[in-house]
Amino acid sequence: MKAHVFYGPGDLRFEELPVPEPGFGEIVMKIEAALTCGTDVKVLRRGHPVMIPHVPTVFGHEFAGVVARVGRGVTDFREGDRVVAANSAPCGACRCCHAGRQNLCEDLLFVNGGYGEYIALPPRLVASNVVRLGPSLPARRAAFAEPLACALLGIERGRVEEGMTVAVIGHGPLGCLLAIVAAQRGARVLVVGKPGWRLERVRGLGIGECLDAGRSPSLAALLRDVTGGRGVDVAVDATGRPEVWEQAVAAVGRGGTVVFFGGCAPGTSVAVDTRRVHYEELTLVGAFHHTPALIRQAVALLESEALVPDGLLTHTMGLADVPDALGLMERGQALKVLIEPYTA
Ligand SMILES: [Zn+2]
Ligand SMILES: [Zn+2]
Repeated sequence: MKAHVFYGPGDLRFEELPVPEPGFGEIVMKIEAALTCGTDVKVLRRGHPVMIPHVPTVFGHEFAGVVARVGRGVTDFREGDRVVAANSAPCGACRCCHAGRQNLCEDLLFVNGGYGEYIALPPRLVASNVVRLGPSLPARRAAFAEPLACALLGIERGRVEEGMTVAVIGHGPLGCLLAIVAAQRGARVLVVGKPGWRLERVRGLGIGECLDAGRSPSLAALLRDVTGGRGVDVAVDATGRPEVWEQAVAAVGRGGTVVFFGGCAPGTSVAVDTRRVHYEELTLVGAFHHTPALIRQAVALLESEALVPDGLLTHTMGLADVPDALGLMERGQALKVLIEPYTA
């Protein structure tokens, strides 16, 4: 089979590999749809100490498909089941797992390999984070389960409620998903991004009010301007840039919450106004990854069509085209690219 293998920053190779054999407790999935993600671009540029602890490894982490083979000891799945898998499996035994915060698991097992024809899913993933799909949910939509679960966690951390004003800063695919989820909770949603093709596309999709980040001297001034000076109730950073984190803090009003959703480069730091954090009771909270419960919640939202993310798919390509797809992502010319291995 063909798959893209990551050897280190800037080094992705399209290789011929044996179709994996399922070991005890494993299933082998035939991939029907994979999605590009901003994280792929980041990983390709600088590696990722958590998601990719060792190289070489097969690449891509948002995918859905059909069970091709099951290993001994697997009782929950059969050949032919249509499934989506998350890209990680918690241990279930550590303090964080026991507290229901499996996203912070001390021994989170990451699984990569969405950009291939087949992938072997390890026993721990099969046991915790593989979900069977109903017949109505196409693989290209099911593959959104992983990024959508991340967005659900971000909005949960922001304690977003009906009637609140929520600013999502950054209009990449995850910014869009965060905005869609916040709007679904009944919030007024402001999406802040750089002017250009992508912001126009987001505006066209009707995902919240789109604001041009360059319109004011600062993001905070812009967001205060459109909220009558009050500031937003919740600001979510989906850019992963320290200077934007600071602007997000400056943009929330009294009692506001800032969700640091976008991960910044290692070694960076930000300054916060201690007076405001204390006297205005600001809540500053990180949001990382997802939990098995949120993966299931995401699948349910997609299955019921309460949330239809199809508009975020701007291109469809074959497996061989993954480098081109990631190039489009890097240049901001795509939101998400659907990779269908068999259209190559
Ligand atoms: Zn992703
Ligand atoms: Zn754990």
